[in-house]
Amino acid sequence: MQRSIGSARTPCARIASDTADAWSGKQAARPSSLYVHVPFCAHKCHYCDFYSIVDTQDRQEAFAHRLIEEIGAIAPICGPLETVFVGGGTPSMLRPDLWALVLDAMRTRLDMGPILDGTGEFTVESNPETVTPALMGTLRRGGVNRISMGAQSFDRRHLATLERRHDPDRLPLACGIARDAGIARLSVDLISAVPGQTIDDWDRDLGIALSLGTEHISAYTLTYEPGTAMTARLGRGEFAKASEDLEAEMYEHTVERLGLEGLGRYEVSNYARPGAACAHNMCYWRQHDWLAVGPGASAHVAGWRWKNTPRLDDYLSLSDGGFAPISELEEPDPARSLMDRLMTGIRLTEGVDGERAMSECGSLGRSDSMRAAVDSCVDAGWLAERSGRWMLTGSGFLFADRVAGDLIGALV
Ligand code: SF4
Repeated sequence: MQRSIGSARTPCARIASDTADAWSGKQAARPSSLYVHVPFCAHKCHYCDFYSIVDTQDRQEAFAHRLIEEIGAIAPICGPLETVFVGGGTPSMLRPDLWALVLDAMRTRLDMGPILDGTGEFTVESNPETVTPALMGTLRRGGVNRISMGAQSFDRRHLATLERRHDPDRLPLACGIARDAGIARLSVDLISAVPGQTIDDWDRDLGIALSLGTEHISAYTLTYEPGTAMTARLGRGEFAKASEDLEAEMYEHTVERLGLEGLGRYEVSNYARPGAACAHNMCYWRQHDWLAVGPGASAHVAGWRWKNTPRLDDYLSLSDGGFAPISELEEPDPARSLMDRLMTGIRLTEGVDGERAMSECGSLGRSDSMRAAVDSCVDAGWLAERSGRWMLTGSGFLFADRVAGDLIGALV
């Protein structure tokens, strides 16, 4: 059940009490993953539907102090952190002196042991134009060991179409600055099927990303989200959308080219060298638990889901014992949990545990409809059953959304 609860009290305290028995009995572990949302951006890119605001610098300081307060509030329900992911927005727009305060608070108030001993993963999303030696040095000293660089394209024409304003020539420089600061793990984000982009343009983007020595590439197909400037421009006929055939050709080329270079696909849009998959995102896709701080950030703990208020003004001015006010709350629900696991898990190369899913379907009275949905996807050649798991086939990756929709439909 999802409710909009405006500025209602945070469920953190209730969650902590509901799960206290499990935690004290060691049947469940406290969340070991944390998402941090930094909402500032230099401007709004035309395809973006993430929560971000154009930064005027005047609220960065207040934001950092409010974030530190929230970090203190979640500390009692946060386990030793194995993954931290700072997304946005553009986290690299936060001033280095404010970053230093936030990282210091994380180190003193949270158990960062696995991160600081080098076994954990601490990622910060960065835009190339905001990467400086001072910032990267500050991040490294705070335990950051992975940078996710927002390249999107190395072609000025396609960056202009997306309304991304960075200079693509800054990318190699930014990667070098991160490495010089001691941050060795780099991921590069790219977008395919930009209007006007050819398969040769896309191949060139992949080649440049690979030449940066990245261990991980996220390659997303451009999507037209409701309410974005890009979707409005499409509606006005300002450009033609890439054909489905070209989208599929680019996708298959990505799998082949990156695979030949040693970056295997482990999720529909994500590729990594062996052992370099993003551990934090794997936590989401496997539907494990994570905490979240910052405006608009969503958390998932012991079946509960909630989302902090997205409005920065509300986030700054409203505090409930340090917790952020929340805008959405979903109580534990076995059917929804299974839907979520199917929705994200089926996109992984490892697939989902079909035997466990069928057992849960039995409890929900949905075994027959799920069996029929799985058989239908197998017959279509999109899904395979191996060792009790449901996995997309090579061609099935092109129909991941359809497969997820069919499986979820069996539960409705
Ligand atoms: S920089 Fe990223 S978060 Fe900010 S507007 Fe552009 S795409 Fe969205």
